[in-house]
Amino acid sequence: TARQRHTGSAVFAPAQAQRIADRRRLDLALRRALDENQFHLLFQPQMDLKSGAMVGVEALVRWQSPELGLVSPADFIPVAEETGVIVALGDWVMREACRQAAEWASTVNISVNVSSIQFRLGNVVGTVKRALAESGLAPERLDIEITESVFIDNDETMRGTLESLRALGVTIALDDFGTGYSSLSYLSKLPVDRIKIDQAFIRTLPDPHNEAIVESIVLMARRLEKTVVAEGVETEEQRAYLAGIGVELVQGYLFGRPGLPEAIGLVERAERST
Ligand code: C2E
Ligand code: CA
Ligand code: CA
Ligand code: CA
Repeated sequence: TARQRHTGSAVFAPAQAQRIADRRRLDLALRRALDENQFHLLFQPQMDLKSGAMVGVEALVRWQSPELGLVSPADFIPVAEETGVIVALGDWVMREACRQAAEWASTVNISVNVSSIQFRLGNVVGTVKRALAESGLAPERLDIEITESVFIDNDETMRGTLESLRALGVTIALDDFGTGYSSLSYLSKLPVDRIKIDQAFIRTLPDPHNEAIVESIVLMARRLEKTVVAEGVETEEQRAYLAGIGVELVQGYLFGRPGLPEAIGLVERAERST
């Protein structure tokens, strides 16, 4: 085990051993959580800025642990990525999101996060095909959110994978945009449909530096014919500014926090099965 390997090393430190032991415990807990259905999805509205209508939702996973309580994805996704359990968890998220969305009265889009580790270790195209087939969800309703880290060391393979996904009819969104290595020439080559501006640039508005960045991204996206999504919109002032510069889609606490489907009108309360 990792622990034994580290015990043999000259730089063995108790704090490090503790970290490894904690990680190992969390890994086992995550695998058991999958078996025991301790995960669920919340959905956060994505609004069309012009019409004000909810046109999509992003699926965000939650872990209700009997021992730890409600655990934030910010805490368990990184561990799941490190240990590889993200592949099985990501499969579950994709299939569950499609299954639920296909049952909703509303035909809004559904955005699903796919980790770069899933692309590296799993079979994302296979998972998406299966999720679409078994749910009957129209592929046009599915949007897959990726981050730039998918391109780090397998540029050409990734391009092929993304093209295969688009050939199924789904769209691709580049999440957390502006935080990575993005350049104009780089972005122009990527097979993505949407650019999702990182919330760090949005939540802090008004701010002259971040306005310069946001406006550059919007101009660039328009030239490359990609849809812009701004996330982390918290105030009416931010909404008005983003509408003024022509951002198409917005997401953030101003329009709704992640919630259960019935809380955002996706299913009628009486219809919800348990
Ligand atoms: P993300 O994909 O960037 O998701 C957006 C996060 O920002 C969500 O946090 C959401 O609740 C939060 N958020 C949305 N609007 C606002 C706002 O106006 N203000 C503020 N302060 N926050 C806002 P959440 O649900 O805790 O998820 C955190 C991260 O965990 C996600 O960031 C994503 O990277 C990861 N994650 C969540 N679900 C999944 C999943 O199913 N698969 C994978 N691979 N990662 C996931
Ligand atoms: Ca996302
Ligand atoms: Ca779509
Ligand atoms: Ca994001």
